[in-house]
Amino acid sequence: MQALSHLLDAAGADRYRLAVADGAQRVARRITAAGRPFTGISPARLADDIDAIDLDHPLGDTTAALDELDRVYLRDAVYFHHPRYLAHLNCPVVVPALLGETVLSAVNSSLDTWDQSAGGTLIERRLIDWTAARIGLGPLADGVFTSGGTQSNVHALMLARDEALDRFACAADQLRVFASEYAHFSVTKAAKLLGLAEDAVISVPGTADRRMSPEALQRSLDACRQAGLVPMAVVATAGTTDFGSIDPLPRVADLCRRTGVWMHVDAAYGCGLLVSRRRRLLDGIERADSVTVDYHKSFFQPVSSSAVLVRDRAVLRHATYHADYLNPKRAAEEQIPNQVDKSPQTTRRFDALKLWLTLRIMGPDAVGALFDAVVDLADAGWRILEADPRFEVLVRPQLSTLVFRFVTAESRADAANLYARRAIAESGEAMVASTVVDGRHYLKLTLLNPRTTVDDISAVLDLLAQHAETYLGSSLVAA
Ligand SMILES: *Cc1c(COP(=O)(O)O)cnc(C)c1O
Repeated sequence: MQALSHLLDAAGADRYRLAVADGAQRVARRITAAGRPFTGISPARLADDIDAIDLDHPLGDTTAALDELDRVYLRDAVYFHHPRYLAHLNCPVVVPALLGETVLSAVNSSLDTWDQSAGGTLIERRLIDWTAARIGLGPLADGVFTSGGTQSNVHALMLARDEALDRFACAADQLRVFASEYAHFSVTKAAKLLGLAEDAVISVPGTADRRMSPEALQRSLDACRQAGLVPMAVVATAGTTDFGSIDPLPRVADLCRRTGVWMHVDAAYGCGLLVSRRRRLLDGIERADSVTVDYHKSFFQPVSSSAVLVRDRAVLRHATYHADYLNPKRAAEEQIPNQVDKSPQTTRRFDALKLWLTLRIMGPDAVGALFDAVVDLADAGWRILEADPRFEVLVRPQLSTLVFRFVTAESRADAANLYARRAIAESGEAMVASTVVDGRHYLKLTLLNPRTTVDDISAVLDLLAQHAETYLGSSLVAA
């Protein structure tokens, strides 16, 4: 049977090696040649090409399929390695991690049970212990890899919910979660998935530097109790998605400890500080009950690579269910390390291998140096923006984002900023993000590429200003 030749087995090993080398060759060529982060192609044009492909008639040939892929994907992909990709929290990825990706997908271990993984399970456990030690969670800490920060937040809040239900003898709809107004929207999604009340997430006002106000948190907690409701968790964000601002972790920890409330730290973005010379920005994180880390943001890992960590491994039991066909109770009694006992997922990738090879080849200090470089860059960018009368910049960054807007006396400033963002993306010259702050449209640079320079930032600001001016000029003519 001809189809057998496509399997990765003893007979297919050579074919596998050549196919992967072919694919890597194509990617390397595009990465080398990319003069812009994006070609600016429209969804409609690309959809025509992709829709025209007949999936029931294979090309039968690796080279032909890669040629086609080059045309419908690689040519017009958004390239995060490009120094002028400045939009979302996507990092350029390190080669040791890509090596890990190649190995892990070929061996295809599944980390749910020891008998589908063996060494992969122990490697993941070492990395969880390593991360927990960097955080300082103490001797009982544990955790598990997840698909991303969203899943980590859902998982952590599920544990917090079940602990609260156990301890406070209340109903789920009485539980409230406190997060700053700048927290990630996955906190709200988590509350929904966890069956909490519609209004379960209480938005705590921030201070001028866009960090949670501890006084406001105290007031919100008091008001909650007075209303007969039960505080379930406080989510402190260590690196908000928009501002990179870090909530005052020691103050939040004091309040949580005093009132017996679960403290979750969402460090999806800020976790890179764990290996940086700015580690002290995370002081207080060691007092958390649970922590989210996204290695695929500030550890320069490919998607997916994330983890949830807990102070007390006993709480992981809330995700423990036994199935006779997979992880019978007897296996737990025999202390067979089945990671599925800790995770809501079953079949699960060995994503930890990417971080493992990164640490074994580069080491943590090198990863931290990459993150420090972008934090330094953001500070330099802030100084440029502060001195530039064309723009208004909101806060001096703690991490690596810059939120700013083109200023104009005209009432069309919002539209001009939105236009500038779209125009620069359509030109493909650079990618920047946008957000809304206090009801007004802002532009945002998320700096995660250590190859980006201050000259890149200046050039992108010039382009944005030109587009905004073009918009205002043409709208004057039109008016
Ligand atoms: C990115 C982000 C998340 C979500 O992480 P995903 O990996 O995209 O699911 C959660 N919290 C914060 C603060 C983030 O920046």
